[in-house]
Formats: sequence, C-alpha cells, structure tokens
Amino acid sequence: MDSSIYNATVIGKILLTPDLMILRIKTDEPRNEFIAGQYTTIGLLSNEERSANSVVTIEPISDNLLIKRHYSIASAKHEVSEFEFYISQVKSGQLTPRLFNLTQGRRMWIDTKIQGLFHLNQVPPNCDIVMIATGTGLAPYMSFLRSHLQEHRTSKLAVVHGAAYPWDLGYYSELRFIEKNFDNFYYFPTLLKADSTWSGLTGYIEKHLDDNILQNQAKIEINPNKTHFFLCGNPKMIESVTNYLNKFNFTIHRNEQCGSLHIEEY
Ligand SMILES: Cc1cc2nc3c(=O)[nH]c(=O)nc-3n(C[C@H](O)[C@H](O)[C@H](O)COP(=O)(O)OP(=O)(O)OC[C@H]3O[C@@H](n4cnc5c(N)ncnc54)[C@H](O)[C@@H]3O)c2cc1C
Repeated sequence: MDSSIYNATVIGKILLTPDLMILRIKTDEPRNEFIAGQYTTIGLLSNEERSANSVVTIEPISDNLLIKRHYSIASAKHEVSEFEFYISQVKSGQLTPRLFNLTQGRRMWIDTKIQGLFHLNQVPPNCDIVMIATGTGLAPYMSFLRSHLQEHRTSKLAVVHGAAYPWDLGYYSELRFIEKNFDNFYYFPTLLKADSTWSGLTGYIEKHLDDNILQNQAKIEINPNKTHFFLCGNPKMIESVTNYLNKFNFTIHRNEQCGSLHIEEY
C-alpha cells in the first residue's frame, strides 16, 4: 500500500495543547450528507512519522499498513467536503501520534462511509437534551449544535463538559458564545485540576448531577419522558452517570429499543 490511497488534505490544525487538537480536512470528493453525531474512519500509513512528544511503541508495526481509527465528526452535517475532528493524542498509540505530526497541506485517508446511531433523530421535538462529555467526547455535540441549534428553540439544551485544566476545554469560546446568544442553551464546564484563576465549576460531573445543577440552573427535569441524555467519552464517567440515571428509570437507546439515554464510548 502507498500514499496513492490518500484521498484528503489537511486544511487546518489547531493545537490546543501538545496533546489536544482540532483537525480540519478536505476530501478530494464530497461525501453524502450525514447525521450530526455520527463518526467516520481516518487513517495514515505506518511509515508516517510520529510526533516528537509521543512514546515509541514496544511492538513495531509493519511497513505500509494503513492505520485506521474511528473519530466523531465535529463539523455540521451539511459540510460534506470539509470535516472537523477533535482529537487527543494517545502518546503510545499508533494513529494519534502520526496525526499530531501532520501539518497543513499534508495528505491522509478518510473513509467514504459515515456511520453511527448517536444522533438526535429519535428525540421528540419538545424534549430537553443534556449532552455530557469528558475530553474529546464533546466532538459529536459540536456537530449537534452546529447542525440543529436553530431548530431547537422551544426545548432546553445543556452541555456538561468535564476536563482536567482550563486549556483542555476545547470549543470553550464557541460554547460561551452560544450560551450568550441562545437563552435555551446552558454550558457547564467542570475542571478536575483547576487552580485559583478558575472561578467556574470543579470536580466530577457526577457531583454536579447529584447537586441538582440541571434542575436548579437550567430547570431541566431528570425525567425520561421529558429529557434525553447523551453521554460520550470516558467509560468510567459513562458508567457512573448511567447508574445515576437508572435511578430515574432511564433506559439505554439501542437500535431495536427506543430509550432516553444515548451512549457513545471511546
Ligand atoms: C465511535 C468512536 C468515535 C471516536 N471518536 C473520537 C474522537 O472524536 N476523538 C478522539 O480523540 N478519539 C475518538 N475515538 C477513539 C479513537 O478511535 C482511537 O481509539 C484513539 O484516538 C486512539 O488511537 P491510537 O491509534 O492513537 O491508539 P491505539 O494504538 O489504538 O492505542 C490505544 C490503547 O492501547 C495502548 N497501546 C498502544 N500501543 C500499545 C502497545 N504497543 N502495547 C501495549 N499497549 C499499547 C495505548 O496506550 C492506548 O491505551 C473514537 C472511538 C470510537 C469507537
């Protein structure tokens, strides 16, 4: 396999930290319109260089192998030639250190298939929507908001985003901007390792749910008939928030079974 299989070009790379980036790529051919919240697969050949701050893996990977991984699309559903991804570097991983070494103009591979069931299609029009993420689990919600914010004027929307440091809060300015301009949108960033310069929420997402932050600050009911919850990111957060929601009789949304709790695990 050689680089002739590459079918996209890097058109933007914003390094938020050495291990967190927003990557924009342009495909040679447009894709079909997708559903906000879905993911696609991107890849690089194994002979591409790794980033300088990565950790060389113990197991070598054979030459000319296309390393592929899934990534949620952060851009709006109608953007079918330019795609945005929110990616954290796994220093010992195979693909992300190579992605972090990319620069503008470099070529890469992206699948033609866009898939996934993590979307708003089954949410009844008047239900409130709570989007909970750790780290890059925010990506599908950026696509939700960029695609559907204008249609959801009568229901409430809330993003609860957990991260370590303030600089790990990707899309902070965009979310604050939405909050300022849409009175039905609520943004709750919470940090685990904040210092005294941070005046916002601190600690685990679960603590704020237990403190009734959604009910008190957004007047959102924890009721499966009135609110749909989306959870994306760290498996531990997903497990504990699922346990919390089980107490309110939420059931998980699956292909064959409608529920008010939607889960995407990375
Ligand atoms: C539906 C879906 C959507 C996703 N969306 C996103 C997204 O929007 N943003 C995002 O950042 N991620 C996302 N992911 C995760 C992503 O697909 C990758 O799993 C992640 O980026 C790590 O890829 P990698 O190749 O760098 O690491 P991998 O090589 O896959 O390594 C993963 C793990 O294995 C360990 N490991 C690696 N090499 C070795 C070795 N030689 N020996 C022992 N252990 C090793 C690593 O430390 C790490 O813990 C998504 C996943 C799914 C399933």
